[in-house]
Amino acid sequence: MSGRILVVDDIAPNVRLLKAKLEAEYYDVLSADNGPDAIEIARQSVPDLILLDVMMPQMDGYEVCTHLKNDPLTRHIPVVMVTALDQQEDRVRGLEVGADDFLSKPIDDVALFARVRSLLRLKLVMDELRQREASGRALGAINDHLTCFSDTKAPADILILEEDQQRGERLARKLHDQHNITLSFDPREAAAKLNEKSFDLLVINLVARGFDGLRLCARIRSSETGRAMPILALVDPDNREKIVRALDVGVNDVLLRPVDANEFTARVKTQLRCKRYADTLRQSLDTTFEMSVTDQLTGLHNRRFMQARLEDALTRLEHGVEPASVMMADMDFFKRVNDKWGHDAGDRVLQELARRLKANMRAVDITCRYGGEEFVVVMPGADIDAALQAAERLRASVEAERFDLGSEQGSAPLTISAGITELCEGDTHQSALIRADQALYEAKEAGRNCVRRTKTTPARSATGA
Ligand SMILES: [Mg+2]
Repeated sequence: MSGRILVVDDIAPNVRLLKAKLEAEYYDVLSADNGPDAIEIARQSVPDLILLDVMMPQMDGYEVCTHLKNDPLTRHIPVVMVTALDQQEDRVRGLEVGADDFLSKPIDDVALFARVRSLLRLKLVMDELRQREASGRALGAINDHLTCFSDTKAPADILILEEDQQRGERLARKLHDQHNITLSFDPREAAAKLNEKSFDLLVINLVARGFDGLRLCARIRSSETGRAMPILALVDPDNREKIVRALDVGVNDVLLRPVDANEFTARVKTQLRCKRYADTLRQSLDTTFEMSVTDQLTGLHNRRFMQARLEDALTRLEHGVEPASVMMADMDFFKRVNDKWGHDAGDRVLQELARRLKANMRAVDITCRYGGEEFVVVMPGADIDAALQAAERLRASVEAERFDLGSEQGSAPLTISAGITELCEGDTHQSALIRADQALYEAKEAGRNCVRRTKTTPARSATGA
């Protein structure tokens, strides 16, 4: 995986050394020898990762990191602090200002590339989400409500898998004031819990002698439900190979034992922040999708979605799976509603009609607002007789109860006309809708407030369905 990396260090030989190492692995490397330049370059060329020296004159690494994480242009870029000091206080301070990870000087190559790969992989996922979100925004489907890295105080669901009871309880104590902690001492039990509900974070001991934590991590990463859950692993500092394997398997972050309480809570916070950001992005994508197939006024499906489902129904018919019918319904004299009581009353009527439509159709039926006061229902599995019954039930329910027009206008009796047709082999969604529309026209001609079906019985499929 290639990527563009910005190296920041005030000592020129340090920059040269890191640059050479990274370029040897085909990374594209940019560099800066002071904080203000680093911020400028980050804004201009938006690298995929920043390796940031802590000790620099004038503006130190913490200050640079604070700037980067407060700027919407750069806050999503992972930052690895490079420090000569191996002090836990410094790590905590770095995590507090938003750093994603640490490397100690002199930099160990294996640790460096494991970190780089893992952070670039995470960024790839984030970038894709961000991109899709941006196109949703451009289409007007997403409002500008999304705040990057929302630091919500809401409690998270955290699963801790430890081997030792005392150690597990010690970890849990550090988090339970703020979060809901589930403690487990058995990987099989932990796996079962992960299947039962979704957690926001898994903390796992990878040095346990009683079980193979890495195997569980790998399994979680290959499962549909666990793919997006961050994993924080506890490892021994001298087991470098395990650290590298953990990051390669897809563990998001590692914490070295003995565990420092502040570093632990800070790393947990970082992982939760990322998770929440990704969740927010995913949610807004779901909303975009929902909006792209929904009619805004009635909440029914829109025409585009209905056409796709109609095509599905035709495919199933052609494979002899099941018959299907389609109904086109139209409010009688709807123009009079708008003319007499105004468009607000008209909208209210359409919303109520949509409600009755849904109430009278099965859950598998696709109810759609086709345009104006016209509605289409695709009925998978329904032959013409079943469709006729459903349409008649709907017509009766519309006639049975007056429609509310708003507090000042009172209510009015209204009716619908409907045309139905059964799908036949060789149909396209257009030909089926044209037939349903013809039947609807006949219903209108027959005096409205009635249902008509197409005269011709469709040819049954060759398999005799
Ligand atoms: Mg320095």
